Amino acid sequence: MAGMICCKCLKELKPCKTYFKYLGNSFFTDVLKCPECGQVYISETLAKGRMAEVEMQLEDK
Ligand SMILES: [Zn+2]
Repeated sequence: MAGMICCKCLKELKPCKTYFKYLGNSFFTDVLKCPECGQVYISETLAKGRMAEVEMQLEDK
């Protein structure tokens, strides 16, 4: 996940622990954030992977 650049500020994005809430579950995950404008970039793979994980945990119950 290195080498991503904010298209607005042209600054390198830094990984940042971010709190998510989804389907009643909450978790922290690293997302890329622009240190300049604070824009957060969540890759589709990351979002889908993490969301699918939560959904699987729910189905196990
Ligand atoms: Zn930016």
